[in-house]
Amino acid sequence: MVRKDLAGRGISDKRVLAAMASVPRERFVPQDLQHLAYADQPLPIGCDQTISQPYIVALMTELAHVTRRSRVLEIGTGSGYQTAVLAKIVDRVWSIERIQHLSREAEKRLHALGIANATLLIGDGALGYRDSAPYDAIIVTAAAPHSPQPLLDQLAIGGHLVIPLGDRAVQVLYSVERTTSGFVDHTAGSCRFVPLVSPQAFED
Ligand code: SAH
Repeated sequence: MVRKDLAGRGISDKRVLAAMASVPRERFVPQDLQHLAYADQPLPIGCDQTISQPYIVALMTELAHVTRRSRVLEIGTGSGYQTAVLAKIVDRVWSIERIQHLSREAEKRLHALGIANATLLIGDGALGYRDSAPYDAIIVTAAAPHSPQPLLDQLAIGGHLVIPLGDRAVQVLYSVERTTSGFVDHTAGSCRFVPLVSPQAFED
């Protein structure tokens, strides 16, 4: 998977490739879909949600420009897979999920893998998590019509907000960089995510 679907499609950050190789995706995928754990596709994880396609997880991680010293906020814990990949690379990760059951299950998986530098929170991630701001990167793994203002506010100078923006059906992946003079948008192709459910984004 790492060689063909990730490096083969242009993911070049060695830290990202190493993290993707070290996290066992089968631990984040339902029992009856184990045979698809390393296929490059999203899979259902219950509660009408999905674990993202490995290529997209790698791409979002690369676009976040993280280093060992980074402090990262993820919105949409879901299975906890993207959280685990980030936790392998950076110092501290906070991840917010609105569905308590998914967060609890993700917490068990991370614990079983000995990942201790990720803090899982329950709530509306579109509001961010002010207590630990600013963040060097914020990764939103659900689609929004526009970047929620609280997330832009909680980004450090030089930090990146990685977020799929568009409507419910199709989106473009953005990496929004905060500079000393404002925000600079970079785009990275089209993608398809479940909606970010929030008064700041899409209604349930
Ligand atoms: N990163 C996940 C992908 C999860 S899919 C993984 O690697 O498995 C997106 C997740 O975002 C879903 O679990 C959904 O419940 C969650 N979500 C949607 N709107 C949210 C919001 N406003 N705040 C927090 N989580 C939200």
